Amino acid sequence: MKICPFCAEEIQDEAIVCKHCKRDLVDLQSSASPDVNSLVTIFGTEQWFATNPQVTIHINGVQVAITKFMKSKVDVPVAPGRNTIQAKMGFRKTPVIALDVAAGDSILLRLNSNRMTGGIELIKI
Ligand SMILES: [Zn+2]
Repeated sequence: MKICPFCAEEIQDEAIVCKHCKRDLVDLQSSASPDVNSLVTIFGTEQWFATNPQVTIHINGVQVAITKFMKSKVDVPVAPGRNTIQAKMGFRKTPVIALDVAAGDSILLRLNSNRMTGGIELIKI
């Protein structure tokens, strides 16, 4: 059994129309999973930069957020499935990371600077 989202009565799991309020449940089912967003959270950590540079976050090649390198945290909603993520800071950019995200999933990434290479990277934590 499931609960009709319109009238809150119990209905069969296979129902495509609610027997109580007669509302159509089909559109609701097909759009259910894309509505469940997943979240990628990017943490900036205190690093060796003298300033606190601005960093842009790109999901699937599109800029979606701006954050700071040090002591920052930004939540970016993503669609379930495969997404790519990259952070850019001036001329520096991280490698593009592929994220396989399940519906409702929450992924944590740490924005890191590499003192040896001078580059920046996103590390799954
Ligand atoms: Zn109903």
